[in-house]
Amino acid sequence: MSSQRALVTGGAGFLGSHLCDALLGEGWNVVVVDNLLTGRRHNLEHLKNDSRFDFVEKDICEPFDVGKVDFVFHFASPASPVDYTIHGIPTLKVGSLGTFHALDVAHKYGAKYLVSSTSECYGDPLEHPQKETYWGNVNSIGPRSVYDEAKRFTEAVTMAYHRYHKVDTRIVRIFNTYGPRMQLNDGRVVPNFMKQALRNQDLTVYGDGSQTRSFCYVSDEIDGFIRLAKSSEHLPVNIGNPNEFTILECAQHVIKVTGSKSKISYEPLPQDDPKQRRPDITKARQLLGWEPKIQLEEGLQMSLDYFRKAVAQEAAAK
Ligand code: UDP
Repeated sequence: MSSQRALVTGGAGFLGSHLCDALLGEGWNVVVVDNLLTGRRHNLEHLKNDSRFDFVEKDICEPFDVGKVDFVFHFASPASPVDYTIHGIPTLKVGSLGTFHALDVAHKYGAKYLVSSTSECYGDPLEHPQKETYWGNVNSIGPRSVYDEAKRFTEAVTMAYHRYHKVDTRIVRIFNTYGPRMQLNDGRVVPNFMKQALRNQDLTVYGDGSQTRSFCYVSDEIDGFIRLAKSSEHLPVNIGNPNEFTILECAQHVIKVTGSKSKISYEPLPQDDPKQRRPDITKARQLLGWEPKIQLEEGLQMSLDYFRKAVAQEAAAK
């Protein structure tokens, strides 16, 4: 793959920026296009003097062309429930218009293509764990629909460009992922709990905390993306850690890892919050030889330094 050029839309985000690091490590030249709606320049700061790296600030909801590329990684989209609730219409636009434009680039240059999709395609799942063949249980008009339906549409456009235009596409369904570079205030459970624990504030568990999630450390997740990129699988592949925890257990792990004196307080469960989520990763195991290596407590430990610094920086800025 060396000395070829990859485009990463949304490359200033949490996952996008880690993907850029991995691609540069694999010998690619990388150009990021991001409008910085929820992404941060800071996530790419360490690459600014790398001659193989370019950053273009642009909204991909307008047609765009950054010159010839060999691979398009389409990662642009708000992704946390708080972000996509605030930016509901931009989320729908980037999943629809933005996806057309990213696929147009791949089509024009004959580039390979990989798009980030999500376990949200399964909605509040009635099948557990979730296999790629499950069609999902999504409320098309609820508060999460701006994200869930945008991503389902993203998958539909991607498959259409594959079928009609023969674009060499891949779809990754990402489950809850965590690690350094998550925004402290993006509202997701791991940054919320880490921030609260490091400030010795109560950890806010929504509902009774019995809902489950399965958390994948970022380096494992990126390894799955790279393996999928090198494969020729066009149908969706789940990449996530199948170790499932209740949210209450997640809170207890965070309190343990941070050594915090925090207690737990309970707040209302948001509407349509999925009750359970766990990937079936048989396909990724068989097709990609992929398996997550880092379990929750170890990954929280590995993220601690980052969250400590982010909390200290926020305190200093006040
Ligand atoms: N959650 C919580 N407290 C928080 C933030 C989130 O109990 O401070 C819960 C949320 O209701 C959900 C789970 O943690 O059940 C995961 O939420 P997140 O926003 O990280 O992502 P989701 O998996 O819902 O997209």
